[in-house]
Amino acid sequence: MHKEKFANISNIMKIEFKKVPQTAKEFVALFNSVKIEGIFCKISPSLVKVEAVLKGNTEIDCCRCGASEIVEVNEELKLLLSDGIYNGDEEEFLIIEVENSLIDFDEIIESELNSIKSDYYICKDCLQNSDDFEKEF
Ligand SMILES: [Zn+2]
Repeated sequence: MHKEKFANISNIMKIEFKKVPQTAKEFVALFNSVKIEGIFCKISPSLVKVEAVLKGNTEIDCCRCGASEIVEVNEELKLLLSDGIYNGDEEEFLIIEVENSLIDFDEIIESELNSIKSDYYICKDCLQNSDDFEKEF
């Protein structure tokens, strides 16, 4: 990572709930080779809004043959981080309940990656094979 380029953007891995600013602040957090980059701000004493993009490369296992393949991740994230249990209704944003009033972006990236990995995924070889299969018949 080029430090100069991110000089004005906070590189955050963990931040206490009460320290999140009320005005939107740019941030970036890096976990393995995946980064989350965007803005976050506090919208109520117990809610922090995050609008960011998850970018990088991660390994995903193919559902058909089990081989793992590196895929590029580029996902828009709209999160509401709740300090404790969240009781409201929210459809646009994904709710994440934060423990101990500490926002941990490592954990958020990890859980997003896990949810991407649990999606149905077919590797290039299997896609290629099924294309061939369809052409032959
Ligand atoms: Zn496969």
